[in-house]
Amino acid sequence: MLKKVLIANRGEIALRVLRACREMGIATVAVHSEADKDSLHVKLADESVCIGPAASAQSYLNIPALIAAAEVTGADAIHPGYGFLAENANFAEQVEQSGFIFIGPKADTIRLMGDKVSAKHAMIEAGVPCVPGSDGALSDNPDEILKTADKVGYPVIIKASGGGGGRGMRVVEKKEDLLKSVEMTKAEAGAAFGNPMVYMERYLQRPRHIEIQVLADEHGNALYLAERDCSMQRRHQKVIEEAPAPGITEEERRKIGEACADACKRIGYRGAGTFEFLYENGEFFFIEMNTRVQVEHPVTELITGVDIVQEQIRIAGGEPLPYTQDDIKIQGHAFECRINAEDPYNFIPSPGLIESCHLPGGLGVRVDSHIYQGYRIPPHYDSLIGKICVLGKTRTQAMAKMRVALAELAVTGIKTNTALHRDLFADPGFEQGGVSIHYLEQWLEKRKQQHDCSR
Ligand code: ADP
Repeated sequence: MLKKVLIANRGEIALRVLRACREMGIATVAVHSEADKDSLHVKLADESVCIGPAASAQSYLNIPALIAAAEVTGADAIHPGYGFLAENANFAEQVEQSGFIFIGPKADTIRLMGDKVSAKHAMIEAGVPCVPGSDGALSDNPDEILKTADKVGYPVIIKASGGGGGRGMRVVEKKEDLLKSVEMTKAEAGAAFGNPMVYMERYLQRPRHIEIQVLADEHGNALYLAERDCSMQRRHQKVIEEAPAPGITEEERRKIGEACADACKRIGYRGAGTFEFLYENGEFFFIEMNTRVQVEHPVTELITGVDIVQEQIRIAGGEPLPYTQDDIKIQGHAFECRINAEDPYNFIPSPGLIESCHLPGGLGVRVDSHIYQGYRIPPHYDSLIGKICVLGKTRTQAMAKMRVALAELAVTGIKTNTALHRDLFADPGFEQGGVSIHYLEQWLEKRKQQHDCSR
């Protein structure tokens, strides 16, 4: 069992990991930039170390500073959270080479899944269904590129193998635009990710984003914790998530879940992970794997009762999973709203002093947030200030619970996107369930037009 964990992150996820450690009797080391010295995770940790100035590149992304902090505090493991260095294979490697345990998969697995062409290749080999497309990286030969697109069928999407965060993608509607688009995506990918390799997929028109949470230990056990629907996205960023996904049958869940668990065993996966799929006309298509805990993990925790972060820590300590697949039962329906410090209409970030703050509560309401009255949100990092999650017996009850929770949430001094969430939880289309990944963007466009008309 681990004795002391260094949390290489900030904000709500640092607090989440800290709570998991505390419950397990594990001491915690918080690291922070100069801008984060008043953060809650710093105040609550057993020890804390300042690792550099506000800029992430000099603090939360500073590998030598993080490893030095683990050395001076005598930590035995490092939890990367999400974002920052969580999917950086070099970091995982250096952590282990310095004699610490990395709470996550092996560096080689992170590397394999971080490159989308190699990840897709591994998934095809493991029998996980993928979006039809080019066989690996696109060739440089124009004739072959054109032939591949004819075979895949227009519209196609050109994606950077090294891409991430919704960047490095281009949709091509017709043949005339293909070669130019491939060249442009390659050039952008080379500049942005240091890797010009691109591949091609069929562009699905109205898919949903459905992902499978997995846990795997070092003893050859792997299981799936049902699915999440994360189709409510703006600019490829998730805004609302729910579990289970509306309309997915027990049979569909079992089939895709088993494929993911089997793939974990095949690639020697270790820890928590997520297989992301696009889902259209009853079919799942793998798009990528996240080799870390995700922002939206609480909805899965709520419906399964499994503490995903504690399991990550146990697995890293070498323990076998305490569950079999048969132990995993879905109970109820859960939603998560990501609360951001931003204008709810134009999405401009709104850092600054929180003058007052009332967070919701009650049966089945979970709040993961590092904010408090008097806290100043620094302008240097992403705008997520917390997550409101609810668990209801049914989807309808969970929606009602979320409406109440959102009505209670009151933060002053800065702007938040709470009003957007309130509007979405009053929207009949979203209430029906099963919307596509384009729904929110279209909804926002309509709202903008109505607003412009009424002026
Ligand atoms: P990233 O790592 O940048 O998030 P993904 O491969 O996960 O890239 O894709 C991000 C988003 O782009 C998806 O959630 C989806 O909205 C869209 N997308 C990706 N591939 C396709 C596809 N083949 N068809 C339609 N949309 C796609």
